[in-house]
Formats: sequence, structure tokens, C-alpha cells
Amino acid sequence: MQILDVLIEYGISSLDRTFSYAYQGEIKIKPGIRVLVNFNHKEIVGYVVDVKEIDMDLKEYQKESLFVVKEITKVIDEEPLLNEELVKLAQDMKEYYFAPLMSIYQAMLPPSLKPKRSSLSKPKISYDTFVICKDENEEDLTPKQIETLRLIKNYKKILRSELKPHLVKALFEKNKIDFVLEEKIRLVQEEVSKKDDLVLSDEQKRALDSITEEGHSTYLLEGVTGSGKTEVYLQASRRIIERGKTVLMLVPEISLTHQMVKRFKERFDNIAILHSSLTPSEKYDEYRLISQGKVNIVVGARSAIFAPLKNIGLVIIDEEHVETYKQETTPYYHALKVALMRQKYHKFKLVLGSATPSLETKTRALKGIYHQLYLTKRINDSSLPKTTIVNMLDLNNIDNDSIMFSKTLREKIQDRLDKKEQTMLLINKRGYAPYIQCSRCQMTLKCPTCGVILSYHQFDDMLKCHHCGYVSKMPSSCPKCGHTKFYKIGFGSEKVEEEIKRLYPYARVARLDSDIALVKNKVKDTLTKFENNEIDILIGTQMIAKGHDFRNVTLVGVVLADLGLNIPSYKSSERTFNLITQAIGRSGRVDKLGEAIIQTYNPNHYVIYDSSIQDYNRFFNEEMTYRKESQNPPYVYLAMITLASEDLNNLIDTSFYLKNHLEAKFANKKVEVIGPSEPFLAKVNNKYQRKILIKFKKREDIENEIKELIEIVNNRKKIQILVNIDPESDY
Ligand code: ADP
Ligand code: ZN
Repeated sequence: MQILDVLIEYGISSLDRTFSYAYQGEIKIKPGIRVLVNFNHKEIVGYVVDVKEIDMDLKEYQKESLFVVKEITKVIDEEPLLNEELVKLAQDMKEYYFAPLMSIYQAMLPPSLKPKRSSLSKPKISYDTFVICKDENEEDLTPKQIETLRLIKNYKKILRSELKPHLVKALFEKNKIDFVLEEKIRLVQEEVSKKDDLVLSDEQKRALDSITEEGHSTYLLEGVTGSGKTEVYLQASRRIIERGKTVLMLVPEISLTHQMVKRFKERFDNIAILHSSLTPSEKYDEYRLISQGKVNIVVGARSAIFAPLKNIGLVIIDEEHVETYKQETTPYYHALKVALMRQKYHKFKLVLGSATPSLETKTRALKGIYHQLYLTKRINDSSLPKTTIVNMLDLNNIDNDSIMFSKTLREKIQDRLDKKEQTMLLINKRGYAPYIQCSRCQMTLKCPTCGVILSYHQFDDMLKCHHCGYVSKMPSSCPKCGHTKFYKIGFGSEKVEEEIKRLYPYARVARLDSDIALVKNKVKDTLTKFENNEIDILIGTQMIAKGHDFRNVTLVGVVLADLGLNIPSYKSSERTFNLITQAIGRSGRVDKLGEAIIQTYNPNHYVIYDSSIQDYNRFFNEEMTYRKESQNPPYVYLAMITLASEDLNNLIDTSFYLKNHLEAKFANKKVEVIGPSEPFLAKVNNKYQRKILIKFKKREDIENEIKELIEIVNNRKKIQILVNIDPESDY
């Protein structure tokens, strides 16, 4: 008989230990496979960590054992899911992030291989199921169901996998929707014609040689957009592949993968793509190709850092400063940190590319930990856009037809339409209006789960919480005073789109934001249309700001530059600087001079000024003084502890107890404990939350203390603890 030590599928710290199960069958069980087990009267998935051969049967064994040992229900896999390196990586991540091992396996594996009950039914079939609307009547539906029905109605048909399963089920049972099957569009293998490597500029050549030479291992490739970083990535990849090694190329988000994939496909074969908008079966296929060693290049977003490539010679993290490289749920890993961990094993070259490196990365480069490389010129010496800051507080600057726009921006847009050139407008807020207000009693509507003000979305005429996804129908009357007129206050991307269409009725206008991204291929189609000059004005959130190389864009308008500055996080200035710099960098590519207009209520703010002249160094120096004063990264490290419970009193008592406990422990060390504070999102999943922030200089100062803290909390019932190392935000 074999005794299996099994981790069960819940990735929470109170269950971060193995449970023993027996297996009396014939198969020789290997560690690293999944099994089905009965746990607390439920069939769930377990991940085998260790196997012991025992010379007894279960009855005899049971007599000697202190606990009841059950048999597993079923063996799921034949071969281990993760190779030796990735198993070791999971251990290193567990040490660094204080995260439950299971949560790390869940993050590492693609959907259909995750040790999770729900993964077992993930489709591996070769056709798509679409949902169509059958009955538009919304009577007896919940707000979530209505939201989904309206989405389906608006887009005629939607992939079933894009929608929440329980909502689909409910709508189907209520006879509102129907299913249609269509042969699967496999990963659209766009035909691209092969291109030759370009002749490099001197700077590019120096960077390429340095990256592919012996010596340094990690590089910061700093260069403005359009300075030819991607060309360096491509040629470095070629050299590495010629040496028989593999390449991993990370991009910050889905909307950028297709462009990067295209550029790699123009040069190479045997590429796999990994990112979150693939269906589970597509991901499964790509994952298998990689682990079988059939590809030598992987392009993907954050989780592609776990690609089971062997013999990696080069890892590139493009736009390394972007926050999407950090996963904002347990285990809270950062792709760059994971890359550094894998580097110890593979000894690969790691290239971090950015026009605006994160302050942490730049500091390391200045200290010589990373080797600094520069691309200072835009290719073909095309100059940076000419930028104007418009003070929106001065009424003389405001357009006569629309308070949303300045006279300057209005004129420039018209000018571009006349010249058949393209415009991009950045508004970093989705939806129609950030909030609605009763016109009589001024009441605003808040999310009942997390207390955040609800945004109005015109597309489906609903109110939505941008934090937890709560939705409700737009009320017909004020819940407080019964009045039936509401003001829609402020503006988001939908409103900007509406306004632009009103002001320029003949222009071809499109919008890109995460609402649009819900619909499969819509983002890609829109970008392709824009690239092909079939759209004159593209409006969007930060999704449009990054990476795209559109040759005919000669005007970028930042509709409201101040949006990000008010967020109470130590990174809000850095984010805003990056966003504006990147956005206006879209204007004027290889052969055309660009212009940019920044509309702001803070025309004298250093972030606005520095980004308008695209002066990263000036921003870096100013921001670093603030970081030093406030003792924030990169001057210290942060660990954010979140405690959650349904029992508020218990939570408050425990959090103060823990704070005092920590302060006593840290009395003689350079460690600061802040809180417990009530976070911005006071309630998540109906649990109250409290946060304790730890600022430290040396890792060894907090190592044992945090482990102990996790233990203390796990021994207290009904309180959950989450540890976020290197959080992107301090509130
Ligand atoms: P980045 O990644 O820094 O934004 P890219 O590599 O995308 O820059 O280069 C910007 C543009 O310049 C692209 O259209 C690219 O094809 C072109 N380009 C890059 N390097 C060269 C080169 N050495 N010679 C000619 N054109 C180049
Ligand atoms: Zn909410």
C-alpha cells in the first residue's frame, strides 16, 4: 500500500500542510500528480507531495495511526505536473512570499491543470459554445443576471466561457438564453510574412552585444518609446536561440501580446503564446507544447513567467515598471522577482526594458546591481512630441461647446481630421460617469459590499462597483427621497466617446477599456482597425497608452491628467508620470512630428511638468526625495498584512493585539509597524478587513516574526491572514 501526503486544493495559510491518504491500487504514484480525495465530506482535488510504500494493508495501518486515514477516490494524472525546477521554485517563492504552497501551484499552472476541482471539467474539446439571447424580458432576474443578459443582447452572441457559469445556468433555466456550437477558432495563427533583421544603430548594437556577452546577468535597457528596444529583444533572441537555448518574452498585458507575437513571428518559428485571454484548452495546448520542448520562444503576460521551458537563455520583461506584473491575490508574486529566482537555476540573461523604469529597478541599476544600457535616440531621429499643458481652471481655456475639452485640444483634433491623421485620447476612468447623485437630496449610491461609490455605465444602463464587481440596475427613483431625477457627475471613457461623437459627427471613433475587453477579439480588432487607419479617433483608458506602434498618430490628448494623483498610495505620482509619459509618447512616430495636449487642474505639479517634457531623470530625482522623506520604497521594503473576519470585534481586538506583539518584537530593530488601519475597501467578500503595514530595511529582521504572526492568527479561529510582500500600494 502507498501512503500519500497530499496538499488540498484550498490555498489558504491555515491549510498549508499535508494530509495523509491511502492508495491500495496498482499504479506507482509519483509526487506532483493530482488525486481526488474526500475532505470534510467533499470531493476535492489534492496534490501529492510525498509517497511512502508501506508493508501493511489499510486495516493494519489504521490500528497504528492516530488519525483516521481515508483512501483516495481517484488518481487524476499519470505524470507530475511540474518539473523539478518549478517544484524548487515553488519552495523559494513560499519562503519569500510567506504564501501557502498550494496558492503558488495554483498560480503556476494553466487552468485545466490547476489542482482544483473546477479545473477537471475545463473543456478540451474543439468547438466553441456561444450564448445568444432568446427572451429579452428582464422580469424576475437579479441585477447580475440582467447585466449578463444585456451584454449578450448588445453583442448578439458571446462566448460562454467569457461569462460567469452560475449566471449562464440561471439564465438558461429561466429560458432567457440559448446555446449555439461553432467549430473552434483555434489560436488564430495569423499568417505573417517573414522579415529580415534590421541594421542596428550604434546604440542598439552596443546594447545587443552587451546583453549577449559573458559577464553581467541582469540589464536595464532604458529607452524612450520608439527607440528600438523591441528590435534589440528580437536580435538578442536570435543569438540566444542559435546557441541552442530558449527565450521567454513577457509583456505587461493582453492587449500588447498580439503585437509582440506578430513581431516575433515575423522573425521566428516555434513560438508559444500564453496569456489570460486564451481559452483553457488553448492554454493547455500551448502549455503542453512548451513542456514537451517543442517551442523555443514563449511570449506571454505575467503568468508566463512560469512557462516550463528548459534551458532558458534569455528572459525579457518589457515595460518592467508596469504594475500588472504583480499578482494582486495570494501569493502576491511579482514576475520580476520570480524571474530573478529562476535565474539562479538557469543562469539566463535577464533584460528589463522601459522608458520609465520603476524607482526600485533604476536604483538597482544606479548601484550597479543591474547593468545599465541606454537607447537615447528615437529611430530616424524623430523628435519627441511638442507638448502643451492646458490649465482647465482658467475658464478662458475651455471650449464653448463642451466643458470636457479645451479650445486648443478641440482645434487640434479638427486639424488632424482635416489632415487625415489620427488622434488618441486618454481618459483613465471607464464607464460613463464616476457617480450619480439625486438631484433633490444629493444622495449618492454606494456599493453595499465594499462601500465604494458606484459608477454609471451607459452601455447596459447599470451601476457598477469598480472594486468588487457588484452591479445593480439604474434606480428609477432615489432610494432615500423618492425623487426621480439623477445627475450623472464627472466623466469616464463612455462619456468622452459620446461627447467626441457629438462634436465630430463625421469622425470614425472607437473606444478601448476593460469593459470592451470582455468581448473576445474586440480589443485586437479595434487595434487592427486603428493600425489600418479605419479609425480617426481612439479613446481609451491606460490600455491605449502602452506599447502600440501606430505610425499615423500625430496627436495625443490627455483629457484629465489629474485622475491618478489623488489616489492615496506612495506610487500614485510614479504611476501618473508613467501613464502620461507613455501616452504622449504615442504621438509622432518614425516619420511624423507629433503633438500632445495635457489638460489638468494642477498645471504646476511636478508630475505634470516632468511628464510633459518627458524628463525621467528629473522626475526620478524629485520623487526619490519624497520617497526618502516618507520612508517608502526603494528606501525601505514593505510587507502588508491583511486580517479579515466576519466578526468585527474579534478582528479589531486581534489586530491591536498583533500590532503590539510586533512592536515589542521589533523594539530594537529598524522596523516600523503602521496600523492597524481600516482599508479603503472596508469589506471584501462580506468580511471586514484591517491592515498592518511593516516597513523594514533588512529581510532577516522580519522573517521569523512574520512566520510567527501567521501561526498566531491560524490558531485563532475565524480570522484569516494574507501577507503581501512588496505591495504595489501602501493603503
Ligand atoms: P520600442 O520597442 O523602443 O518602442 P521599436 O523596436 O518598436 O521601439 O522601434 C520603433 C520603430 O523603429 C519600429 O517601427 C521599428 O521597426 C523601427 N526600428 C527599430 N530599430 C530600427 C533600426 N535599427 N533601423 C530601422 N528601423 C528601426
Ligand atoms: Zn463593491
